[in-house]
Parts: sequence; C-alpha cells; structure tokens
Amino acid sequence: MRDAHTLPQPDRFQYTPTLSCVMPAYNEGQNLGTVVPQVLQALQALGSQVEIVLINDGSRDDTAQVMQALCEAHREVVGINLSRNFGKEAALTAGIDAARGEVVVLMDADGQHPVSLVADMVKRWREGSDVVYAIRRTRDDQSALHAGLTGMFYKLINMGNRVKIPAHAGDFRLMDRRVVEALKQLPERNRFMKGLYAWVGFASTAIDYEPLPRAAGESSFGLRGSFALALTGVLAFSIAPLRALTITGLMLAMLALGYGAWVVAEYFVWGIDVPGYATLVVGMMFFSGIQLLSIGILAEYVGRIYEEVKQRPMYLVSQRWGAGLSLAPVKA
Ligand code: UDP
Ligand code: MG
Repeated sequence: MRDAHTLPQPDRFQYTPTLSCVMPAYNEGQNLGTVVPQVLQALQALGSQVEIVLINDGSRDDTAQVMQALCEAHREVVGINLSRNFGKEAALTAGIDAARGEVVVLMDADGQHPVSLVADMVKRWREGSDVVYAIRRTRDDQSALHAGLTGMFYKLINMGNRVKIPAHAGDFRLMDRRVVEALKQLPERNRFMKGLYAWVGFASTAIDYEPLPRAAGESSFGLRGSFALALTGVLAFSIAPLRALTITGLMLAMLALGYGAWVVAEYFVWGIDVPGYATLVVGMMFFSGIQLLSIGILAEYVGRIYEEVKQRPMYLVSQRWGAGLSLAPVKA
C-alpha cells in the first residue's frame, strides 16, 4: 500500500520538499526575534516552500507580541497561541498538528539547536530516512547529577521494552510527512514525545550535535521538571514497575514461607522457644512499607488512566496568525 503522502524513494534525491519547522516557545520573547529569522533563512535554502510554526505555550513574557510581529513581517511564519501553558509535549503536539510541510523539523526556540544541522537532516531524508534525530554529544549545560540521572533514566525505560528509545535524542529531529501522520494518530493525553517517536518507528538515523548555550532566558527543565517528565515517560511506556511489584511480592512470600517452616522446625525438632519481638516489628514495618509503595505505584498508573478516560483535548488554541503552507498535493 502506498500512502497518499509517500514519495517513491528514488525521487527524494532530486526532490526539494516543502518544509515546516515547529518551534514551541515558553517565555522566549527575547529569543524569537533572533532565532526565527535565522531559521527561516536556513529553511529557505533547503525547501521549495517553507513555514515556521511557532507555538506560544502560555508564556508570561512578551512572546505573544513578538510572535505576532514576526507573523506580520514574514508570511512564512505561523503563530499559534495556546490558551495557557500546556507544557512542551502538548505545544509540540499543537505544532505537529498545524504543520503542513512534506518534511517537518522540530526545534527549540531558544537557539540551543544549531540550524546548520537541518541541512544535514534534509540530506539524510533524501537518502531515504524518514526520521533523522539529533543526539546531543554532551550535557555540559546540565549539572553532573542531572546528566547522570538522565543516563539512568534511559537505561531504566529501555529495560525489557520492545520499543527502544534512543538515549540522549531529544525533540530536535526531522520527520517525513508519513511519520507525522502516524504520530497524529496517537491519542494519549499523557504525552511523552520521545517515546511516541520511537513507538511509531520508520527508517531512522541519528546524527550528533553539540547543543549551544541558551541565547537568553532560562531552561524550564530543571531537575524537578525533568523528573516529572521522566515519570510520565516510564509510566506511559513501560509496565516494568508493575512487574517489579509482582516479582517482589512473589519473592517475599516465598521467603516468608521458608522462614515460617524454619520457625516451626525450631520449635518442634529442637524444642527452642521462639523469641520473636524484634523480628515481628522489623517484619511488619518492612512489609507495610512494601505495601504502601505498591499502592503508590498502582495509584500512579490509575491516576494516569483517569486522565486518559476524561478525553480532554491535549491543548486549546486561543489565536492563530498567518496562513502557512497548504497541505502537500496528493501524489498518485
Ligand atoms: N517549552 C514550552 N513549554 C514549556 C516549557 C518549555 O514550549 O512549558 C519550550 C521552550 O520554549 C523551548 C523548548 O520547549 O523552546 C525547550 O525548553 P527549555 O529550553 O526550557 O529546555 P532545555 O533546553 O533546557 O531542555
Ligand atoms: Mg533549551
């Protein structure tokens, strides 16, 4: 079956695609004015027609005004105002939904993702990759603890999972139209985009890059923000925590059985009167701890199920500026 948007592979070598660049922005008023024209210039050198889709994720600074001015100055720029701060994952989703290009590039709005890499990405796309993701070579912009925990997170989330999430690959990536259409079919509310990209699959290649320092402003993802995202990632992509509970429960039950048998033997065979106070206290505390932990982990999953069944929209748009590209012509 050929998807309506799929180009036959050999055509890509000669073909200049229409390009969308999606940029979520939260308090990036100081950065958009410099980053957007740079990106626009880079895109225009690569695409037949281009658009930049800016998503203002409920910023508290002047991002909305700067965005509107950019839309008025450049007809290639589309500005989408979300009704409040929905978080980067939702903002990206809004951008992906609005993008119309045959090739879609996701990029941060803070200047940390080098625009020069986009040319390489498009080259890989021409060579047949449907997804080209950028892997950061270093984490010098984060603390050692943060970087270490991130490494552990990737090990944990990929443990025993069929779908492997490439470590240190962020949202900076290029996607073919059919990958975008696949992503748009995933309805979950608890969005962990890095997992969703991996889940949809398609021919993917990695290129590595050195993240630049933030042009201005500060990161929204400190240790706490990253931890919340990591938790969403693990809970949305793996039932390993639940399995760990089952196994722990099983092992403890067997241990208790063995110990029970030992105590009975002590009493009947050797006639030792069993002194048990300390064992009792320690045992009780240990087991109630395990039980509370288990309930907590279960509750995390149940809470997320609750959020899913409510079926609320992932984001709400309050305003939109600029027309952007029209949808790619359907190729026979
Ligand atoms: N961002 C967003 N909504 C948020 C937080 C961040 O759209 O609630 C955007 C932000 O403007 C930037 C990108 O997501 O373009 C990455 O955020 P940030 O630079 O804070 O994270 P870091 O680069 O430190 O991982
Ligand atoms: Mg950043």
